[in-house]
Amino acid sequence: MAHDPNCIFCKIIAGEIPSRKVYEDDDVFAFHDIAPWAPVHFLIIPKRHIPSMAQLAPDDAAVMGKIMTLAPQLAFENGCRPYPEGGFRIMINTGHDGGQEVRHLHVHVLGGPRPWSKGND
Ligand code: 5GP
Ligand code: ZN
Repeated sequence: MAHDPNCIFCKIIAGEIPSRKVYEDDDVFAFHDIAPWAPVHFLIIPKRHIPSMAQLAPDDAAVMGKIMTLAPQLAFENGCRPYPEGGFRIMINTGHDGGQEVRHLHVHVLGGPRPWSKGND
């Protein structure tokens, strides 16, 4: 399914739920997390509704590659300090045991000076 009408991230992509946009192209959308753990915390998502990493198929390699190569660019453009003193953390929660709450695949990008409000380890 390209768009799930019950999915909050599909609604964010469609502009039906407001968000603070970081980036958008034909395949990918990125926006600031509503409850940040760190000074920089945004999410990068495929526009196509993929529930999680568990459903990835070979055809998704291109969009996942795009997300991973965009991550450092967007991180450094949005407040992460330069490597190596700075940097960022990538997190992709998958399924209940993986701590996933929203069932539309999303890549967390976290960064900025520590301590963070959560996830300091
Ligand atoms: P998960 O636990 O599924 O890996 O992460 C879901 C993330 O989505 C959480 O960090 C949560 O704060 C964020 N989130 C949930 N609903 C919304 C929303 O409506 N808008 C934005 N910007 N972030 C959201
Ligand atoms: Zn969705």
